[in-house]
Amino acid sequence: MSSPHDDLDLPGLHLTDFPAGLRLCLVCHEARGVALLSRYDGELFTMRSQCPCEGIPCHCGKGMTRMPACSYFDWRAGRWRHKPHFSRGMCRRCEERERRRRER
Ligand SMILES: [Zn+2]
Ligand SMILES: [Zn+2]
Repeated sequence: MSSPHDDLDLPGLHLTDFPAGLRLCLVCHEARGVALLSRYDGELFTMRSQCPCEGIPCHCGKGMTRMPACSYFDWRAGRWRHKPHFSRGMCRRCEERERRRRER
Protein backbone atom coordinates (compact mmCIF):
# COMPACT_ATOMS: atom_id res chain seq x y z
CA MET A 1 0.00 0.00 0.00
CA SER A 2 1.64 3.22 -1.06
CA SER A 3 0.64 6.66 0.08
CA PRO A 4 0.34 9.59 -2.30
CA HIS A 5 3.41 11.30 -0.99
CA ASP A 6 5.75 8.38 -1.57
CA ASP A 7 6.88 9.64 -4.93
CA LEU A 8 6.75 13.35 -4.26
CA ASP A 9 8.01 15.39 -1.39
CA LEU A 10 6.46 18.80 -1.72
CA PRO A 11 7.19 21.47 0.85
CA GLY A 12 4.10 22.68 2.63
CA LEU A 13 2.12 19.65 1.62
CA HIS A 14 -0.27 18.68 4.37
CA LEU A 15 -1.91 15.40 3.64
CA THR A 16 -4.24 15.11 6.59
CA ASP A 17 -7.22 15.51 4.31
CA PHE A 18 -5.80 13.85 1.25
CA PRO A 19 -8.49 11.42 0.06
CA ALA A 20 -7.64 7.77 -0.28
CA GLY A 21 -7.21 6.66 -3.86
CA LEU A 22 -5.78 9.91 -5.14
CA ARG A 23 -2.17 10.46 -5.97
CA LEU A 24 -0.16 13.41 -7.11
CA CYS A 25 0.62 13.62 -10.79
CA LEU A 26 4.37 13.61 -11.28
CA VAL A 27 4.09 16.02 -14.19
CA CYS A 28 1.86 18.80 -12.87
CA HIS A 29 1.85 18.01 -9.13
CA GLU A 30 -1.95 18.01 -8.99
CA ALA A 31 -4.16 15.33 -7.48
CA ARG A 32 -5.46 12.71 -9.87
CA GLY A 33 -7.26 9.42 -9.69
CA VAL A 34 -10.47 8.16 -8.17
CA ALA A 35 -11.01 8.99 -4.52
CA LEU A 36 -13.05 6.89 -2.15
CA LEU A 37 -15.02 9.18 0.13
CA SER A 38 -17.62 8.64 2.78
CA ARG A 39 -20.76 10.70 3.16
CA TYR A 40 -22.01 11.97 6.49
CA ASP A 41 -24.32 8.96 6.72
CA GLY A 42 -21.35 6.66 6.24
CA GLU A 43 -22.16 5.62 2.69
CA LEU A 44 -19.15 5.40 0.42
CA PHE A 45 -18.92 7.03 -2.96
CA THR A 46 -16.20 7.83 -5.45
CA MET A 47 -15.04 11.10 -6.94
CA ARG A 48 -12.70 11.42 -9.86
CA SER A 49 -10.05 14.08 -9.69
CA GLN A 50 -8.64 15.20 -12.99
CA CYS A 51 -5.26 16.79 -13.45
CA PRO A 52 -4.49 19.19 -16.31
CA CYS A 53 -2.48 16.53 -18.17
CA GLU A 54 -5.70 14.60 -18.72
CA GLY A 55 -7.47 17.67 -20.08
CA ILE A 56 -7.21 19.79 -23.19
CA PRO A 57 -4.45 22.01 -24.61
CA CYS A 58 -4.39 25.60 -23.41
CA HIS A 59 -4.97 28.36 -25.96
CA CYS A 60 -1.26 29.23 -25.75
CA GLY A 61 -0.48 25.88 -27.30
CA LYS A 62 2.20 25.11 -24.72
CA GLY A 63 0.43 23.95 -21.59
CA MET A 64 -2.54 21.85 -20.66
CA THR A 65 -5.65 22.73 -18.75
CA ARG A 66 -8.34 20.61 -17.15
CA MET A 67 -11.37 19.58 -19.13
CA PRO A 68 -14.36 21.90 -18.58
CA ALA A 69 -17.03 20.50 -16.23
CA CYS A 70 -14.65 18.32 -14.32
CA SER A 71 -13.96 17.96 -10.65
CA TYR A 72 -10.63 17.93 -8.96
CA PHE A 73 -9.17 17.89 -5.53
CA ASP A 74 -7.29 21.06 -4.70
CA TRP A 75 -4.83 19.63 -2.19
CA ARG A 76 -3.31 23.03 -1.44
CA ALA A 77 -6.68 24.17 -0.14
CA GLY A 78 -7.68 20.70 1.04
CA ARG A 79 -10.99 20.69 -0.75
CA TRP A 80 -12.78 19.65 -3.89
CA ARG A 81 -13.42 22.09 -6.66
CA HIS A 82 -15.46 22.00 -9.80
CA LYS A 83 -14.41 23.57 -13.03
CA PRO A 84 -17.51 25.06 -14.72
CA HIS A 85 -18.42 23.88 -18.20
CA PHE A 86 -18.18 27.42 -19.59
CA SER A 87 -14.65 27.86 -18.34
CA ARG A 88 -12.05 27.00 -20.88
CA GLY A 89 -9.31 27.53 -18.37
CA MET A 90 -5.65 28.26 -18.64
CA CYS A 91 -2.47 26.35 -18.08
CA ARG A 92 -0.29 27.11 -15.10
CA ARG A 93 1.94 29.48 -17.05
CA CYS A 94 -0.96 31.50 -18.42
CA GLU A 95 -2.49 31.67 -14.95
CA GLU A 96 0.78 33.04 -13.59
CA ARG A 97 1.02 35.58 -16.38
CA GLU A 98 -2.61 36.63 -15.80
CA ARG A 99 -2.04 37.02 -12.06
CA ARG A 100 1.05 39.15 -12.60
CA ARG A 101 -0.83 41.28 -15.12
CA ARG A 102 -3.63 41.89 -12.60
CA GLU A 103 -1.27 42.72 -9.77
CA ARG A 104 0.55 45.34 -11.73
ZN1 LIG B 1 -0.90 15.96 -14.39
ZN1 LIG C 1 -1.38 28.49 -21.53
